[in-house]
Amino acid sequence: MIRSKAYAAQNKTSGLAPFELYRREPAADDVQIEILYCGVCHSDLHTARGEWPNTLYPSVPGHEIVGRVCAVGSQVRRFKVGDLAGVGCMIDSCGHCHSCAEGEEQYCENGFTGTYNGPVFGGENTYGGYSQTIVVKESFVLQIRHAADDLARVAPLLCAGITTYSPLRHWRVGPGTTVGIVGLGGLGHMGVKIAHALGATVVLFTTSPGKIADGRRLGADEVCVSTDDAQMAAYANRVDFILDTVAVPHDLDAYLSLLKRDGTLALVGAPAAPHPAGNVFNLILKRRRIAGSLIGGIRETQEMLDFCAEHRIVSDIEVIPIDYINVAYDRMLNSDVKYRFVIDMASLADA
Ligand code: NAP
Ligand code: ZN
Repeated sequence: MIRSKAYAAQNKTSGLAPFELYRREPAADDVQIEILYCGVCHSDLHTARGEWPNTLYPSVPGHEIVGRVCAVGSQVRRFKVGDLAGVGCMIDSCGHCHSCAEGEEQYCENGFTGTYNGPVFGGENTYGGYSQTIVVKESFVLQIRHAADDLARVAPLLCAGITTYSPLRHWRVGPGTTVGIVGLGGLGHMGVKIAHALGATVVLFTTSPGKIADGRRLGADEVCVSTDDAQMAAYANRVDFILDTVAVPHDLDAYLSLLKRDGTLALVGAPAAPHPAGNVFNLILKRRRIAGSLIGGIRETQEMLDFCAEHRIVSDIEVIPIDYINVAYDRMLNSDVKYRFVIDMASLADA
């Protein structure tokens, strides 16, 4: 077994503190990665604080993992020691259901295995990226083609990048479409950058007037302050597709009414409590849809990483030491992050 320093929550209220865990020795099809950086997703906070109903403790979050390969099993072909590599939200799935066969492992009928918090339909706990090293089977490890200097800024692509890229592609966003991105946080700022790179007209909806200039700089053509009814009304029936990244319950009707006929409001934000139910007339009178989307499959995650490398897209980040993580969570709750915290894992050595 391989010993690794880590940070874990022991229960809902403990906060995160130093912890020690063990990884398996790499099997023939395994890749071992020395973790250099790990992004901080709002899902980490929901999980560590037990806001979703399924947290297994101790909980070691982190599913935006990048680092260098430090060992490979005898059958590994795509990676060698020293390569850059990434791990996102999944480390395994059943491999034989129709979702897995189609490369949509995140919808595995038998439950994929999360990078942290274990198999979604039960089973042993897994420990995520707030740690020094991880061992993952090759087929769930991603290749990184960005420059090594960009590595910290690439980490958030492993969750925030794919969670926005996948629905933007699924709903065929591109030239000629007007896309709304709701919330300029970790997911939202990647959504703005990727939708812009796909050639869409991008409208950012934010509750924070202080983010207007950043929204434009990141690629939004227009910014609407969503707390201002007059600004919202100006977008009625004008938007083809809206991606909602907000992590708290809120009024969906305010966004549904902005969609054109046949438009879709796709929810990726995952609040612990339900949204107030949408007004049916907002749906039926214009055949609008409310949809959801979960991360993305491994093949699409590689496609997204390569797309971002080609378009020079990385995340806007604030690098933090691991012992800042509890403060970082509180700042995330206050929408006070520009626009993703990334942990420099070298700081774990002294923890
Ligand atoms: P985040 O960085 O905290 O961003 C959320 C943004 O929502 C904030 O920056 C803020 O943007 C906006 N917001 C916050 N409070 C609000 C309020 N009261 N009303 C309206 N807007 C508010 O979080 P994240 O890491 O991007 O994650 C967002 C959500 O997506 C979380 O629930 C997370 O668990 C979920 N998620 C889902 C998937 C998936 O596969 N579906 C994957 C990853 C994460 P403004 O200041 O611009 O308003
Ligand atoms: Zn995430």
